[in-house]
Amino acid sequence: METGKSGSDPGPSHESDQIEEDSIHREVLKQQLKDALVYFESLLRNSNLIEAEPSSSLNEETMVIGEEMFQNTLEMLAEKSLVLDEELTDINEIDDSSAYEEVETSLIANESSDEYEPDEKKKKRCQYQSTFNRPLTEKGSKAVLVNRHDINKVTHSYTAQYSITMSGRVLPPVFVCLQETTGTFGPRVQKTVNEYAKKYSNVVITSSKSGKLTTGLYKDFLRNALKPYVQNEKFLLLIDSWGGQTNPELYDEMFQDDKKLPTCTMKIIPPKCTPLVQPCDIYFYRQVKNLIKRLQNCAFLIERDREINSTENCIKIQSIVHHMLSFPIFSDMIRFAWFTSNLTNDRKFFFNVNKVCFPTDTLRNKYSCKNASFIRCTRCRAVLCFPCFHDNYHSGSCDIPATSCH
Ligand SMILES: [Zn+2]
Ligand SMILES: [Zn+2]
Repeated sequence: METGKSGSDPGPSHESDQIEEDSIHREVLKQQLKDALVYFESLLRNSNLIEAEPSSSLNEETMVIGEEMFQNTLEMLAEKSLVLDEELTDINEIDDSSAYEEVETSLIANESSDEYEPDEKKKKRCQYQSTFNRPLTEKGSKAVLVNRHDINKVTHSYTAQYSITMSGRVLPPVFVCLQETTGTFGPRVQKTVNEYAKKYSNVVITSSKSGKLTTGLYKDFLRNALKPYVQNEKFLLLIDSWGGQTNPELYDEMFQDDKKLPTCTMKIIPPKCTPLVQPCDIYFYRQVKNLIKRLQNCAFLIERDREINSTENCIKIQSIVHHMLSFPIFSDMIRFAWFTSNLTNDRKFFFNVNKVCFPTDTLRNKYSCKNASFIRCTRCRAVLCFPCFHDNYHSGSCDIPATSCH
């Protein structure tokens, strides 16, 4: 994008490219479906299931059959468009799926026994695989996926940890672990962190030497994020195979019913289990990353040669992402993440971040504050420019009914 452009210019060329691309995509699909139909008929004829020529008129039964086939086709197409969704099958997938191993290697390298227990992990891996074909939850019981996400694009490496439920929720709060050379915040930094924590109340801010969660911090996470959701009920917990969190005692102590019996069934996602369970993680985090990328690389910032990657920005961004993604409009998207991991049969149409937050037709309109529209808030549906949304921290004051840009 040209740097000389004024802030009020929405940059129409990019948007029209997008629309053109969409319509080309649709035309390709229409042609593909026509060809598929011709082929479908030839397959039926080869199997001697249909006549070569139709009758002169359609009777009622024929129409019922036809409508059913039509409905089935629509469903199949909906499914196909989901699977073809570029957000799901992307070349970067490979990079994402190797993230687990990178984490493991780095933990082996620093030899911290607090953070890595290889034997325990191997044992659990077998256990997980042997139970994979069983139904994962009793009917009505809760299931939660917990996953860490390392974010490297910023000046400090940090981890953001979210928990998503099979019912389609993103649990509060999001855990952010910042890298601190000494492992803990000094008194001055702690004061600032406390201020951030007050301001960004859906984020729990912690620190460690590596910027990754330690077992101690992980326990805090379980207590703060999971316990309020599962309470004393039985639930299934899926976690990735990081040594610091695979010890079953950790869960048996933390999660108990009224009779002091453990309530947590913990299953570990093996590192090489990508086709089975990881899409859940990948699909959800792709949405997280997409939103972060949209914020960090938005035209408003690029035009001003401005970057948002300070410590406060990290926390603020995670707060915004959590605020946006934890709204029920994304429930079906999160449920789809479980479905695409073969963990549920629950599939519905869903809207992803691009469709909900960045609808090109809506964002094309300008608003009276003179800046180009940037995003539509998931919750209040207000259309806002970047300064009104990010700089003024809309998530902190977001209210229904919507108040769009001033
Ligand atoms: Zn809002
Ligand atoms: Zn504005």
